[in-house]
Amino acid sequence: MQEKELEFFKIQLLDAKEHILQNVNLASKELEQLQNQENNDDMDFASMRSDALIEQVISDQQNAELADIEHALSRIENGNYNICEMCTEAIGISRLKAKPYAKFCMTCRPLYEKSQ
Ligand SMILES: [Zn+2]
Repeated sequence: MQEKELEFFKIQLLDAKEHILQNVNLASKELEQLQNQENNDDMDFASMRSDALIEQVISDQQNAELADIEHALSRIENGNYNICEMCTEAIGISRLKAKPYAKFCMTCRPLYEKSQ
């Protein structure tokens, strides 16, 4: 992969990281507010609890995505960014454009998902 392309994906990854960090901050602030409200004698106690749970799940997913992004950034540093972690073939540019932190090529991705 060319230097220019790597730079492009690096910027994509850093942007995505920034975006998630903002969302996580927002979600944790909301979660904090909900938890504070739970201490009050509120009629909506039950529904607020489930809302809080949803927030928690969202931020878990975002944390997982964040880990994938960090992993991809370290792959850029190590010079194996576009190499499939399963078959070591190059991952297509179009696939990386759709998902800049893809770890597997189009062939291996479904195999990996099945094995999970
Ligand atoms: Zn592969």
